[in-house]
Amino acid sequence: MTPFGPARIYLDHAATTPLLPQVAAAMEPWLRQKFGNPSSLHAEGRRAKDAIDQAREIVSSALGCLFAEVVFTSSGTEAANLAIVGAALGNEDSRRQRILFGAVEHHCVLHLAPFLARLGYLVELIPVDRIGRVQVAVLEEMLGDDVLLVSVMAANNELGTLQPVYDVGRLAHGAGALFHCDMVQTFLSSSELETRNSELNALPSNVSIDSSRNPHPPATSASNPSNAPPLDSVGLPLPGTNIRARGDGAHISSFAKATADSSAQGEGGPELVTISAHKINGPKGVGALYVRAGTRIKPVLYGGGQEREMRAGTENVAGIVGFGEAVRRVPSLPDGRRGARDRFLAGLDIPDLALSVPNLQDILPGHAHLRIPGVQAETMLILLDRMGVSASSGAACSSGSIEPSHVLQACGYSEGDAKEGLRFTFGRETTVEDATEAAKRFNEAAAKLGSGKLKP
Ligand code: PLP
Repeated sequence: MTPFGPARIYLDHAATTPLLPQVAAAMEPWLRQKFGNPSSLHAEGRRAKDAIDQAREIVSSALGCLFAEVVFTSSGTEAANLAIVGAALGNEDSRRQRILFGAVEHHCVLHLAPFLARLGYLVELIPVDRIGRVQVAVLEEMLGDDVLLVSVMAANNELGTLQPVYDVGRLAHGAGALFHCDMVQTFLSSSELETRNSELNALPSNVSIDSSRNPHPPATSASNPSNAPPLDSVGLPLPGTNIRARGDGAHISSFAKATADSSAQGEGGPELVTISAHKINGPKGVGALYVRAGTRIKPVLYGGGQEREMRAGTENVAGIVGFGEAVRRVPSLPDGRRGARDRFLAGLDIPDLALSVPNLQDILPGHAHLRIPGVQAETMLILLDRMGVSASSGAACSSGSIEPSHVLQACGYSEGDAKEGLRFTFGRETTVEDATEAAKRFNEAAAKLGSGKLKP
């Protein structure tokens, strides 16, 4: 309790996370004293460029990829746009004219469809099941040698559902398509992704992957760091040359690492991976795209030669420094997400509550998504906000009101039910005390709305 009312409890970490104090401290000099343009040749400029390079070193190490394979962008949204539009522009001469998106992708992917149509591509959605998991068997039927790219996220931002990304990648590559994976919600926390993927084993046993059709062979993992691959004019390794992981990447998913290491997970590693700083206690307005060496993509922003001509525009030096610092710090922070989420769910006392994904093994450790049938999410969220709990529906808002969730609709919910989704997302710093208190306030809010035990 504060003098102004109950202390606020923030349970919307899938939307954004608080900036880590150490990250703010690392950024501060780049907002105040150090102002050089990284493209300038003088000392101030060189210092700024070095700072960006250090961050790139950290991010590439975490991804287990080469330094030159990381392109900094202004957001996860821009990274996904660069991946998909860039691949479409870079392969216009190809006979591959179909692009497949998971039906529950983030809008930064789905809303590209009309633009891609104008470029002459046909976008099709891969259906999902009731918990939002892409249907691998249907994807297999959809794939053909006319598919340029498959985009499937590692985990859904609304439900938290972990996707069978290894299988998706292997199938995409088997058909000779590129694989873009939006890892915005899973970067630095993807051990669940690996575990679930190894358990899911969703790929039917009769599927055989013809590796010879894969024009994007996974890079080999070699351990000799001195044997650097030859670079092209923009500093990326030449297509077909071996690339090596830098750093040990020990704290990240072997899926992300499979981008540079084919041995661990077969040929499912994506050519393109989108990440974003503000979901991992870094600053807003910074993202990055991993582009596997040799992948044919074109820029979507034109101007100066920044980011090896993949992304024009003077770099957000402070933001990129903050991104690097978050990637460096976050893996060693205590992680209270699963404990807090489980405590919250255990504290809910509402008989007609519906958990959208009943098996918690299927979702990210910080996610809880539920509905109180008959209660609009908006009503509940406004009440919770007044009671000091910040949560979300996870769905888009327009003119101040929540739209029916495209994710829930893709899962087969009616338009009405798709307005009832409540998303609680827990952060590394969330305590079990906060989770217990949030559950108590939730029960009170539900009771006030005439749901739960007080319902006649
Ligand atoms: N992809 C997913 C899964 C997201 O959750 C988000 C943000 O909510 C994005 C992409 C977009 O990232 P950004 O907010 O950095 O543009």
